[in-house]
Amino acid sequence: MTHSVTDSASQSTANATNHDSPANPATDASAYSRLLQPITVGKKRFRNRAIMGSMHTGLEDDPADAPKLAAYFAERARGGAAAVVTGGYSPNQLGVLSPFAHPFNNEDMVNAHKQVTAAVHEHDSLAFLQLLHAGRYAFHMESVSASATQAPISPFPSRALSDEEVAQTVQDFAHSAKLAAEAGYDGVQIMGSEGYLINQFLSSRTNQRDDRWGQQRSLFALEIARAVRAAVPKDFLVDFRMSMLELVEEGQTQTEILELARGLEEAGVDMLSTGIGWHEAQVPTVITSVPRAAFSWATARVKEHVNIPVVSSNRINTPEVAEQVLAGTWDNTGVETDFVSMARPWLADPEFINRVQSGNARQINHCIACNQSCLDHVFENKRATCLVNPRAGYETELTLQPINAGNTGADSIPASSENAAPKAAVIGGGVAGLFGAEALAKRGFSVEVFEAADTVGGQFRLAKQIPGKEEFHYSLKSVLTRLDAHNVKITTSTPMTANEAFAAGFDEVVIATGVRPRIPEIPGIEQAMAGEFNVDVITYAELLSGAKQAGKKVAIAGAGGIGFDVAEYLVEAPADAGADGTAGTADTTTADITAEPQPATIGEWESAWGVSRRADLPGNLERPHPPRAQRKITMLQRKPSPQGLGLNRTTGWVHRISVAAAGVKQVSGVAYTKIDNDGLHLNVPVNDATKTSKAIRKAQKAGDKEKVAELEDDLKNNRTDTVLDVDTIVLCTGQESVIEADFESLTEEQRSRVHVIGGADVAAELDAARAIRQAVELAAELKR
Ligand code: NAP
Ligand code: SF4
Repeated sequence: MTHSVTDSASQSTANATNHDSPANPATDASAYSRLLQPITVGKKRFRNRAIMGSMHTGLEDDPADAPKLAAYFAERARGGAAAVVTGGYSPNQLGVLSPFAHPFNNEDMVNAHKQVTAAVHEHDSLAFLQLLHAGRYAFHMESVSASATQAPISPFPSRALSDEEVAQTVQDFAHSAKLAAEAGYDGVQIMGSEGYLINQFLSSRTNQRDDRWGQQRSLFALEIARAVRAAVPKDFLVDFRMSMLELVEEGQTQTEILELARGLEEAGVDMLSTGIGWHEAQVPTVITSVPRAAFSWATARVKEHVNIPVVSSNRINTPEVAEQVLAGTWDNTGVETDFVSMARPWLADPEFINRVQSGNARQINHCIACNQSCLDHVFENKRATCLVNPRAGYETELTLQPINAGNTGADSIPASSENAAPKAAVIGGGVAGLFGAEALAKRGFSVEVFEAADTVGGQFRLAKQIPGKEEFHYSLKSVLTRLDAHNVKITTSTPMTANEAFAAGFDEVVIATGVRPRIPEIPGIEQAMAGEFNVDVITYAELLSGAKQAGKKVAIAGAGGIGFDVAEYLVEAPADAGADGTAGTADTTTADITAEPQPATIGEWESAWGVSRRADLPGNLERPHPPRAQRKITMLQRKPSPQGLGLNRTTGWVHRISVAAAGVKQVSGVAYTKIDNDGLHLNVPVNDATKTSKAIRKAQKAGDKEKVAELEDDLKNNRTDTVLDVDTIVLCTGQESVIEADFESLTEEQRSRVHVIGGADVAAELDAARAIRQAVELAAELKR
């Protein structure tokens, strides 16, 4: 059955291209005519084209968390989402993602979810339940798949489902969909992408069966679609999330994908959502270095072959991009699509559509696609939240209540003048300071930010200079726009102390002065930094701010997150150092946060990662052509382990691949001996330290103590001295807190009104997510 689609926007597509560039969001809502246009699918009316895509939050697994889940979705529905899609629920026990998860197959779940659907409907939004059978991605011993295989990202081998079990699984999907309708959902989204069970049946990579489910690999998907359609009421929507691009070896070809799309339409599916890449793919699909809407062409291609609505997704994070994707003007697809699905942008800003509608698109709290607090948390079995919006997932627990300016209750301190808003000084304009200032202003404080440097932004200002991290620029822009709307005054080039702030009449003082790079103790380092040697020693902050440049032969000391960032920066920055080989004008990056970044184009990115648009290529993969470093770069760390192990869970692998592919040399297990005119003197293990440390881990696992001792002895005592011939050493060796507090001169009562947050509080494991959360929690808790 194919539902009719009423598309009242189709006649006004000329307007759809009437918008500003993604760098400068339009403020006039009429620039987003297609995004804001209602559409009816079957009998269900969507009030606009923005769907909140599925995102597992960790609140799905226990029915007792349903009230929190309801509050989470209610905020997004209130903020304008046309529809929300839940995280994935398995139709049976075998398909649950983790051993603690509950399948959606019983009355308890139906009852728990009634509050979720009611909360969404209260705000004129539609609710979809996602049905996801994990297959071989299930993180438990009972995992099953089309054939007996093991996913490279799973520790558990899976067994092949029997013919009867496959047929039963089809019925389980139908049963869960029926229950979803009883719980009040408007539709289900059948998860057929990202390498989960249905996708495992679709691809020869994982389906080696010779029965009917293998002879026609699409049969399982089609049978599920038919069974679900037959089990649910006529007005209930069936959305199928297709793998529009597989990005794995032996994945489906585009030709197979288009055929499946037509088959699903015939099977009675009402709309097709987009999934891109398997979780085990070696091509990034959602992280910040993936160009915006890089895969909209694949969805547009499917749209040309079906008559039902299609939903574009992946790296759509601004209303301008959404508008252009819908209009078919993004990436010159020339094909209008029907919806955009955004998941993380709705975590970052639950008011996304409301802001567009009210002409405040520039205020949208910008998702930087970092994955740090959302997807990384999911994979670490922690509740998902958002780096730039710590309230996400904590809607009932972290609230910003308006203050009572005249409150003189026992826990409160009188405001500086009766009935006037209490005044808060935020010292430090890094992200902790800026997001903290916003939260304070939201509560009703009169806030002023004082920044010692000539511009605000702190670590984000540096991060935005890294190729692939350009989104940080827009995050800064949007928070500054919101601060402006809240009348928060920002004063730069003005160092400030708590004492001075109190003298100026502030009631609360928030110290958010951040960090400075750590200078390690290496003989000769001070002379080198003073320019006494041929070798320059500079900090990552000096490099990324444009204050100093690197030459053609660079050592990066420290291979943590920032060491990797610097390596990627140096790979792409032109190396036009002076003829003598010393540090020269190697790059032209400027510290100006208003400068528009120039991210890689979709074509450049496809070439770097080997993504092809050819319809006949399995998985749409071809030989990648990654950028190669134009200078000699060596990354160093003292630990003997492989470099980059501590990088973030879902993004670290991309950085490790990029740096290795660029030809950056990595040496672990080093001791820094001295710096002089010859370069950087090191003491290093004779044998490759990373290989030895891997062998140590293997021997430890096997309980071979003798081998462990032998290898450890080799690492420690079988070493040699060497000199690295470099012209520049970039220090990425961690940070120290910057805190010029004058606590001694404060009274005890004043000290209770000074609050130290972010890197100024704890520099170790400097973490923007922790800093922003601390800032918002402080603002929420201040007793006023
Ligand atoms: P980090 O990850 O802690 O790395 C610091 C590096 O410096 C380590 O390689 C450490 O390794 C070395 N080091 C520490 N003290 C040293 C000393 N006294 N002398 C010589 N070397 C020393 O810190 P970061 O790179 O500054 O990053 C800060 C935070 O931002 C981290 O939490 C990081 O995860 C996060 N971040 C993450 C990413 C990402 O995941 N892509 C990107 C940027 C930032 P050895 O001691 O073994 O030499
Ligand atoms: Fe976006 Fe990062 Fe927030 Fe996730 S944590 S929603 S990727 S800003």
